[in-house]
Amino acid sequence: MKTTTTIDKIAGFVDREVTLSGWLYNKRESKKLQFLQIRDGTGIIQAIVSIKDVDEETWSAGQSLTQESSLYITGTVSKHPKRDEYELQVKSGGINIIQVTEDYPITPKDHGTGYLFEHRHLWLRSQKPWALLRIRSEVIQAIRTFFYEDGYLAFDSPMFTPSAVEGTTTLFNVDYFGETAFLTQSGQLYGEAGAMAHRKIVVFGPTFRAEKSKTRRHLTEFWMIEPEVAFFDLEDNFELMERMTMYVIEWVLDKCRKELEILERDTSLLEKIKLPFIRMHYDDAVKELNELRKKAGINEEFEWGGDLGSPDETMLTEAHENPIFLHHFPREIKAFYMAPDPDDERVSLSVDMLAPEGYGEIIGGGQRADDEKYVIEQIKKHDLPQEAFEWFLDLRRYGTNPHGGFGLGLERLVAWLAGVQSIRGCIPFPRTIEKVYP
Ligand code: ATP
Ligand code: MN
Repeated sequence: MKTTTTIDKIAGFVDREVTLSGWLYNKRESKKLQFLQIRDGTGIIQAIVSIKDVDEETWSAGQSLTQESSLYITGTVSKHPKRDEYELQVKSGGINIIQVTEDYPITPKDHGTGYLFEHRHLWLRSQKPWALLRIRSEVIQAIRTFFYEDGYLAFDSPMFTPSAVEGTTTLFNVDYFGETAFLTQSGQLYGEAGAMAHRKIVVFGPTFRAEKSKTRRHLTEFWMIEPEVAFFDLEDNFELMERMTMYVIEWVLDKCRKELEILERDTSLLEKIKLPFIRMHYDDAVKELNELRKKAGINEEFEWGGDLGSPDETMLTEAHENPIFLHHFPREIKAFYMAPDPDDERVSLSVDMLAPEGYGEIIGGGQRADDEKYVIEQIKKHDLPQEAFEWFLDLRRYGTNPHGGFGLGLERLVAWLAGVQSIRGCIPFPRTIEKVYP
């Protein structure tokens, strides 16, 4: 009886005959040997067809295989004497072709990224996208596990919303039975309601922002992890971000060695990260940025009150090995719901976590304004319609308390951990201003 299995489990089948099902990834051949790289979704294995071991039919079946042809393949598993590598010695009658694929659009030669994203539905099968999306999956699992073990309730916020969270310029409108609704930009406001019911909740879902900029760090549809906790101050927030980040780093280093290798990630940079992370007040960031700018020969000063641009975050985070908590941003550049600092009215109880190696912001969070009057004032100041926020104000009317949380961009976290330049490859089908196909 033949045994069927998958490549990820092949170590348990040494010296036994197995049948795999998959696709031809690549091949090399000589007069006497065919080396078939077979992928089956769980990994890649080299299958060897030797002219002296197989009948003519099997040999010519091997010859006819083209890239991405689908097949069943049967042979005996052997292990490399030193490395953890396995091979399949194909036997006579061991190649059973389902389809010989013609003209597969993605060849082993280099294609431009534009072309590859046009063929994203196929490109997913190539090694690097394969590895990157496996890391994404592990990161999701790590985060879910972290919050679950820490006693957080999974709390799902709605996708259709009546109100803007992060300003109105990046809203997607939807016709909602003749009224306008918006796709959610953040689940936070709903998360706050959840925190008042369950104390510690975490929202995890897609968010939508009509980002008109084309950067390596912006998608129009991305996934956010948003914990929200009642009776929770800025220091609690730092501590949560630190613990969560370390947990995910360790998880990925533990479970994604092979994937990180495929992506040629220098993992020593992740291994160097230690607690505590850097705490940097906005005032000090301004000073440090200006020193860094001077060193880089940039004459223009970074003025107090401004938001950090990508180049600023890159400069700042390249100067440190650990992530940075940049905290106490000026009130003016933060969302309406940020708590003001009671000791310094210029600034808010806000924090961004910047990832090292130039990656920059991956988390934004803070303590929420918990005073009804103040929140109403801010809604007016930000030109937002108060009616849409009446329910949110109720949270300040009935049992208000200092509370807070953060929003972590999943794709940005994955890009940093995997060491890739753009976040576009960190989601199966990226959406940007210029891309909704495939
Ligand atoms: P940025 O200033 O980098 O555009 P932001 O300050 O608008 O981001 P927040 O509103 O603080 O972002 O959102 C929380 C997190 O969500 C960010 O730290 C980031 O990781 C992620 N994020 C925000 N916008 C995007 C986007 N367009 N694409 C991917 N991730 C995003
Ligand atoms: Mn932010």
